[in-house]
Amino acid sequence: LLAEYASERDLPAETKDGFKVDLLMNAGLLVDLPSLDKTGAEGIGLFRTEFQFMVSPVLPKVDEQTKIYKTALDIAGDRPVVFRTLDIGGDKQVPFLPRDEEENPAMGWRAIRVALDRPALLRFQLRALLYAASGKTLYVMFPMIAEVAEFRRCRVIMQKEIERLKKFGKVPPVAVKIGCMLEVPALSWQLDILLKEIDFLSIGTNDLMQFFFACDRSNPRLADRYDLLAPSVLAFLHMIFKACAEANVPVTLCGEMGGRPIEAMALVALGLRRISISPTSIGPVKRMIRSVHMGQLQQFLLSNIGSPEHSIRDSLVHFARDHGI
Ligand code: PEP
Ligand code: MG
Repeated sequence: LLAEYASERDLPAETKDGFKVDLLMNAGLLVDLPSLDKTGAEGIGLFRTEFQFMVSPVLPKVDEQTKIYKTALDIAGDRPVVFRTLDIGGDKQVPFLPRDEEENPAMGWRAIRVALDRPALLRFQLRALLYAASGKTLYVMFPMIAEVAEFRRCRVIMQKEIERLKKFGKVPPVAVKIGCMLEVPALSWQLDILLKEIDFLSIGTNDLMQFFFACDRSNPRLADRYDLLAPSVLAFLHMIFKACAEANVPVTLCGEMGGRPIEAMALVALGLRRISISPTSIGPVKRMIRSVHMGQLQQFLLSNIGSPEHSIRDSLVHFARDHGI
């Protein structure tokens, strides 16, 4: 799949009428990193740090964590790498953290909930990230934040680690950008406060949509039950993109949704300008963006978003076909 799009690797993801979209890739292990050059991704918009923990029989020490993060930053060079702190629990189990059986693990003791209950885990990880990004810009975001108060607790812990770094005379990152994932619907009703406090927002639609529709993301029986091109989804995301634009806060979408060309087409029409997707999706999404005329697409989408239908997928597919996309 990568080879088919190789000739477009260095072309910008820009619409026919000149709207530029940043395409970044998702990664989690060092083996993913060569895809940066192969795909021409503009950086790593989501580095899932839990993968290192999932493949290790014991808790990785600070220096082992530092090594992975530093290697990722070195390979990325001038391109940004956005590290997401541990998202363990739910579907991502680690061998060294004993836990109770849960009735609803996706809504259970996972991600930031574990980190805030076991702050040493988070502190060591932030320490490793700060060491790794010495002299560079560090981007860190926190998963499954449900309320502003949780984000603030994370920021306090980060601040403590930055103070500690200075106390020990280590070279700090040139800048530390702290972001938040939007994966829990509740947080979208605190956007006005949140957007004043974060450096960037990243929308994790895999989780966000399972809670939006109350529909398990891993249950094959429900896989086709709801469509992410439902008017309700598009109206919800449109509201979030607008709030970010008004607050001047960069927003990325890093769920699988952004890697599907028709979905990505709808998202850019709603104002999204930064998508982080799996490496194999970069080529197809870039090709779609380069064949779109934003003005026409926007007009079409905004006139369909109020539809009472289950999904506007069919009309979008028709639009794409009619316009040679
Ligand atoms: C998401 O929920 O959309 C996301 C990007 O995180 P993950 O898939 O790792 O849960
Ligand atoms: Mg998630």
